[in-house]
Amino acid sequence: MPTYTGNKLSDDEIADLPQFLQEVVESVRNFSTKRISCKSVPSTFSTISEQNCSLAHSTCIEDNGARLYSGKLSPGCQICHQGHWECVFITMECNLACEFCLRPYHQDDAIRHSSWVRTPGEFTEFIVDCGVRGVSFSGGEPLLSFAELMKWLDASSLARPRPYLWLYTNGLLLTAKICKQLRDAGLDEIRFNLAATGYQNPHVLRKIEIAAEWFSALTVEIPVIPEDLPIIIEMLERWITAGVRFLNLHELIYEKNTDSWSMEGKRIPAVMSDGHQCFRNPDSLPAILEIIKTADSMNLPLSINACTVYGKDLQIQGRRRLYAKCSLKPYEKLKADGSAECFCAFTNEQSDFFAPQDLPFAQQHFLGRRFARIVRLLPLAQDQADTWIDFELM
Ligand code: SF4
Repeated sequence: MPTYTGNKLSDDEIADLPQFLQEVVESVRNFSTKRISCKSVPSTFSTISEQNCSLAHSTCIEDNGARLYSGKLSPGCQICHQGHWECVFITMECNLACEFCLRPYHQDDAIRHSSWVRTPGEFTEFIVDCGVRGVSFSGGEPLLSFAELMKWLDASSLARPRPYLWLYTNGLLLTAKICKQLRDAGLDEIRFNLAATGYQNPHVLRKIEIAAEWFSALTVEIPVIPEDLPIIIEMLERWITAGVRFLNLHELIYEKNTDSWSMEGKRIPAVMSDGHQCFRNPDSLPAILEIIKTADSMNLPLSINACTVYGKDLQIQGRRRLYAKCSLKPYEKLKADGSAECFCAFTNEQSDFFAPQDLPFAQQHFLGRRFARIVRLLPLAQDQADTWIDFELM
């Protein structure tokens, strides 16, 4: 992320700026304050060495420890690593009430359906225009609104090239008939949240066996609650017998405005590079490493992805870049971290914006103007307010 320079301005200098740029400086100051504790998100590397944990040679550690996986990743996780996917929230309703749940149903401005379009009719074009390579269907429990799910699934299947498509579910409502409809509509993978039903619920394990008759890519995707480590390890072989080929293990996090916020357990602050703040359980990542180690030592036919807070940060940067086709202004330059940089030539009455490479030309053209470099975070959703993250008077 760019260095914050706005705080070098005196109050008089700020008061001398046009109103719009004063608001930019204020936004940059707020952002800078939020990011102060950024280093609290540790790399997987440091957790591995702190735990004195040795992992098998087949375990890949990438991006400075932000990403860790063993075996061949599911296509969905590969696409997610790059941030090239869109999540469609089918409904916020659920037939369960998990204490770790992250659905933001208490939040008025939570994203409903897609973050950029309102209807399935617009969604196909959006996928093609932005180059979205994967679409996931989530909730709440998406199978509670099956007709709505099918509309978004059909719209996604129409896009060319066709994106990889996967569904999140707690599994309770799945039937053979539903599996057939989903597969015929183009769904590629189902991800079961088995933590929602206690990991060993016979009804849900039977649902996985049924799904295995229709899908080759079945995943168990759970937040790893450290206290549940023994039962997770005990169930690995049973899940494989039922048809599971992939594990996606999330570091346990606690987010405001969700049920997870009031869940009991150890917590330490985590601040993303874009200033988003949550809490993480410090014992969750070591528990994930323990699961990977155990699966390796038992030679289990499972591919395992560790979805860490640090890795999510990189995914989100990738998604900001993905949505640049919807959000980047013609005069902005896209940066690797998902931010956009431009310059402004201004007086108190007027301002013009231009791209960084046009600065020499603009300095000759806009004689008598003052110049500023400004950087904003590209939004993750339509209608998201601008977050300015750097301001520099030239
Ligand atoms: S975690 Fe999933 S299954 Fe549990 S309440 Fe939330 S949406 Fe429902």
